[in-house]
Amino acid sequence: MKQLETDVIVVAAGLSGLAAAISAAENGASVIAFEKANTTGGAANMGMGPLGIGSNIQKHQMVSLTPFEAFRKHMSFTHWNVDARLVRDYYAKSGDTIQWLEEMGVEFFGAMPAYAAPETMKPYATSEATWHVVKPIGGGLPGPRCAGAMMKCMTERAEELGVQVLLETPVKKILVEDGKAVGVIAVDKNGEEIEARGKAVIIATGGFGANPQMLKEQTGFEWGKNLFSFAIPGMTGDGLNMAWEAGAGKTPVTIELMYQIPDNMAHFAIEGAFRQPCLWVNKLGNRFMNEDGIPNTTFTGNAIVAQPDHVCYSIFDAKLLKHYKRNGPDIQSHVHPHDIYQQFDEAMKAAFAEGYEHVCEADSLEELADKMGIDKEGLLKTVEEYNEDCDNHYDSLFDKDRAFMQPIRSPKYYACRQYPGGYGTLGGIKINHKTEVMTDEHKVIPGLYAVGVDACAIYGHTYPFILPGNTMGFCLNSGRIAGENAAEFINE
Ligand SMILES: Cc1cc2nc3c(=O)[nH]c(=O)nc-3n(C[C@H](O)[C@H](O)[C@H](O)COP(=O)(O)OP(=O)(O)OC[C@H]3O[C@@H](n4cnc5c(N)ncnc54)[C@H](O)[C@@H]3O)c2cc1C
Repeated sequence: MKQLETDVIVVAAGLSGLAAAISAAENGASVIAFEKANTTGGAANMGMGPLGIGSNIQKHQMVSLTPFEAFRKHMSFTHWNVDARLVRDYYAKSGDTIQWLEEMGVEFFGAMPAYAAPETMKPYATSEATWHVVKPIGGGLPGPRCAGAMMKCMTERAEELGVQVLLETPVKKILVEDGKAVGVIAVDKNGEEIEARGKAVIIATGGFGANPQMLKEQTGFEWGKNLFSFAIPGMTGDGLNMAWEAGAGKTPVTIELMYQIPDNMAHFAIEGAFRQPCLWVNKLGNRFMNEDGIPNTTFTGNAIVAQPDHVCYSIFDAKLLKHYKRNGPDIQSHVHPHDIYQQFDEAMKAAFAEGYEHVCEADSLEELADKMGIDKEGLLKTVEEYNEDCDNHYDSLFDKDRAFMQPIRSPKYYACRQYPGGYGTLGGIKINHKTEVMTDEHKVIPGLYAVGVDACAIYGHTYPFILPGNTMGFCLNSGRIAGENAAEFINE
């Protein structure tokens, strides 16, 4: 067995792992990061940008939100059901972390809200301008994967500081002696075991979004049936299982919930085209929310979970499609392409040709109900009532924004199934505000830290999309906090 020795061992070189490694090295520690994949960056390579509050960018944009205002919003949103010290420390650090990233060469488009909530939903639904969207390598527009540029800069910074990143070398076990974390066992790409000894171990393995069995056990969702998440290979819950085996306490685990069509990245234009405030019904044909609220993907995900079989359908007709094609989407997501309706006919043709079963077009509402598996009588009754409300310019059921009250009565009809979706899992390992791992009895396990989504139990039941960029924000800042505390612990 190969032997290694260092000050700080970081288990994974994704977003929070790299933040922890850089911060420990900046504070004088020698660091080895073990990474399971053949590249660094983890799920963050897929995203767009982190939260920051009080950053210089926001000051230049005259965004006045302070860390304490965000803290109060967060704590009201979660009903104080989470660790206030950890939330406070995270937001207090988050503005400085944006500058810290800029110093590494990360460039941002600016700070923006993720969506605009309708007036009637504002108190708990309005998104603040906290999302610092990263400029992609080589320029271009904001969009999925642009945060890859941030991961590249962070990887380069870690290397510059002498952090040893061992790729394709998953950690299998945390070594605990006399109640203290003293190292790890890893396996390199040739299958050789490595025993690495260190004075502190930081776990950062990104949750278990790609482990259907753990998803079912821990959250009740069945992947591919009533949950379609970004199951990024490698996110199999290793950190949680190793930490629990080492004596860590457990927190509740949730999904970072949103909604999506199955295999959405392969049908991205279609997903964007149907993510509009048209007519949304459940399997019974009943409306279940005011559709102007769908830009809040978390609230909409929750609403879909509350429907029979966790599924709903968004429906529009030929007249509405013509309106979208002419004027663009009623709601422009920051994520989907700008020209979704220019791509629509081709994308639908391709989807039908490959037998993709989650969209349909039909000459009648009856045919649409049959094709999608919606209760026919329920749908016809709903459409009749909805069209009458549209004619009266008033949504008597949910008070939806009048601008979006467009009747559904001009064939062809188009529909798409929407399911709960998830970016990944949140929580599992119990930590305190210093990111030290604790037992169920709140006793610190000396030398053991956990960061990122493995330890992110600060959202309670629902992801606070009101402060967007929050998972990357937590991952970066918990990583920085852990690196600083681990370096201090070693010096003590
Ligand atoms: C499509 C998409 C878009 C997103 N967009 C945003 C956004 O714009 N803003 C935002 O705030 N959040 C966004 N997120 C969420 C955010 O990217 C993640 O929450 C964040 O990257 C998680 O960071 P982490 O460090 O906990 O895990 P990750 O960054 O996923 O890193 C985990 C790492 O652990 C490694 N690993 C696993 N097991 C082991 C092991 N046994 N040994 C060694 N290494 C191991 C993995 O290979 C991986 O590299 C998005 C997520 C997705 C999927």
